[in-house]
Amino acid sequence: MIFVLTGNGKGKTTCAFGMALRASGGGKKVCIVQFLKTGGSSEIKAIKNVKNIMVKSFGEKGFIINRKLSQGQKDLAQKAFTFAKKCACDMLILDEINMALYFGFISIKEVVSFIKENKKCNIVLTGRNCPKKILQIADLVTEFKEIKHYYNICPHSPHSLGQNLVSCRNKKGQKAQKGIEY
Ligand code: ATP
Ligand code: MG
Repeated sequence: MIFVLTGNGKGKTTCAFGMALRASGGGKKVCIVQFLKTGGSSEIKAIKNVKNIMVKSFGEKGFIINRKLSQGQKDLAQKAFTFAKKCACDMLILDEINMALYFGFISIKEVVSFIKENKKCNIVLTGRNCPKKILQIADLVTEFKEIKHYYNICPHSPHSLGQNLVSCRNKKGQKAQKGIEY
């Protein structure tokens, strides 16, 4: 099955990691490939010790602000996709691939044909702004809708990108919390 977790609300990546945990407990082999991320978020540390789960992150340090995109980021996104295509597993999680597609770092056409050709595993695609062509071929789409979020007053709010919380403060003046936001 093809699962898409998209929308502006919080919970896409953590939902995908929850799916990975359940699959692991069910004896399934899971590969998590992260696009546009360095792997510094706390869930990576925790999940590295879990049986049947492999994680690999492809991202540069720093954030994508105001759509200033670097060639380095594009190259890494392409490497991530090449790596993902070779993963042999029961569940393949492509975390933040939707944003890599949205930025044009990887080809929608190539991702669609990879998904269509795949008969072996469940694929989970996360990230905001999932392209229509992917939504059309998915078997399940969940949209995470923001009703309220304490960081939506931040000037670099992740409304557009979902990547730049470290420099933000919420309405109570607090920084992003380790173990909650990252
Ligand atoms: P999470 O990683 O918590 O599951 P996510 O994958 O749905 O969130 P992303 O768009 O990948 O969200 O954003 C990554 C970061 O932005 C996370 O630290 C997350 O907590 C935070 N975040 C997610 N949604 C929002 C929002 N609507 N407003 C502000 N911050 C958000
Ligand atoms: Mg995410």
